[in-house]
Amino acid sequence: MLFSELPLANPLQRAIRAVGYETPTPIQEQSIPSLLEGKDLLGIAQTGTGKTAAFALPILQLLLDSGKFRAPKTCRALILLPTRELAIQVEECFKQYAQFTAISSTCIFGGVGDASQKNCLVRGVDVLVATPGRLLDLIGQKAVSLKALEFFVLDEADRMLDMGFIHDIRKVVALLPQNRQNLFFSATMPDDITKLAATILRPNPVRVEVAPQSTPIERIRQELYRIDKRRKGALLKELLLEHTEMKKVLVFSRTKHGADKIVRVLEKAGVKCAAIHGNKSQTRRQEALKNFKDEKIRVLVATDIAARGIDVDDVSHVFNYDLPDVPETFVHRIGRTARAGKDGIAISFCAPDEEQDLRAIEKLTKIKIPEGDKAIFEKLPPPQKETPESEMRNARGRGFPRREKQAQNSKPAQTPPKAPKQQPQKSAQPVQQAKSEHNSEQLQKAGFHKRRRNRPGSKARRRMRESGNIPN
Ligand code: AMP
Repeated sequence: MLFSELPLANPLQRAIRAVGYETPTPIQEQSIPSLLEGKDLLGIAQTGTGKTAAFALPILQLLLDSGKFRAPKTCRALILLPTRELAIQVEECFKQYAQFTAISSTCIFGGVGDASQKNCLVRGVDVLVATPGRLLDLIGQKAVSLKALEFFVLDEADRMLDMGFIHDIRKVVALLPQNRQNLFFSATMPDDITKLAATILRPNPVRVEVAPQSTPIERIRQELYRIDKRRKGALLKELLLEHTEMKKVLVFSRTKHGADKIVRVLEKAGVKCAAIHGNKSQTRRQEALKNFKDEKIRVLVATDIAARGIDVDDVSHVFNYDLPDVPETFVHRIGRTARAGKDGIAISFCAPDEEQDLRAIEKLTKIKIPEGDKAIFEKLPPPQKETPESEMRNARGRGFPRREKQAQNSKPAQTPPKAPKQQPQKSAQPVQQAKSEHNSEQLQKAGFHKRRRNRPGSKARRRMRESGNIPN
């Protein structure tokens, strides 16, 4: 099938040609005709399948057909997404596809001032792309109302729930008019998502399922490096310096702090890179993303939440600097490469305490990841013995050491009651562990007193002293 065979108006056909699409992707082929008939849709699909055009094109067509006009402070179609990056991206798609029509669109998301967003809503808008928090905020301020809504799209529903948006979604749904067409997209369909879909969609929606999670993986070449945590930075640096063909590299870090640290290591080695995560301002995140897309930087370091749904073409390599706790996240991560029929390479680092995560990933994907070229280890500094300080640092990424987490999970009833005083649980645990193995002199030798957070007189130091873990 060709796009030209779909019953889409000339301005949309022109826009499709302008963006260079010829044949619809499977999700587009399956969704567009039913949506044009006004049916509700349940789509099980990930980013990268072409799902944005699958819902945007028929919505634009129906908006053109309806002959209605937008009223002040209302919208006719609402697309709800979990992150600002996704919202911006989806609105850009709407703008592209609607470029030869008079249909208007705007995007609202948190983390920035709301004045310009409110301005855009004053005269009403045809398509509103929003994140849930800011939408409810602006509805509360009476900057926009959903009373004239004709189309409702909930995208990335599983991620929405992961990010704790369920209450916000329910609030939004309660404000929607009864008579509307609904589209619901999710990469996975666990029970809670199925239940949520049933509260939004009309009975018997069209169900479209594309690209099951395991499909893209086969096209991705994978490599595994078993490496201690402290040398991961050096390994990443060496691999990047040795392999100049690694041109557009996405590195996943478990934590925001970790992402910043990776950037520092790479910048020191002269590798152009930037990080995106929740602590970066919206402007910085957009700038980093744009520079990555334009290949002004070679490496983008991201946390899972910040990276979800970011659409960057031609990512040559994905690095799992830390393995994710949730194996499905691994599949989402490496699916950022090998897009649009291209090949891609995913390289994973596995520290001794991540073996369990690796087993879960290999079980889910049914692929044993082959080990990478061990010659690279000769270029790395020798492994160092763990010090109390490094143990503490490593523990921080996971909140607290894994064996304690497991012990807690397996014996919830025996979890000691909370200390009566202001005992800082997270930091005290590794320190207690360190103390059981080293005396205070060793702690000092390890440079505890030199670190900012533990310097004499600091809050952390005072807490340690109070809890009796460090004398004086
Ligand atoms: P999405 O899953 O909507 O994020 O789309 C992923 C990528 O595929 C985007 O870069 C789209 O521009 C591109 N795309 C969507 N539909 C088509 C199509 N029919 N032909 C070629 N590329 C497409």
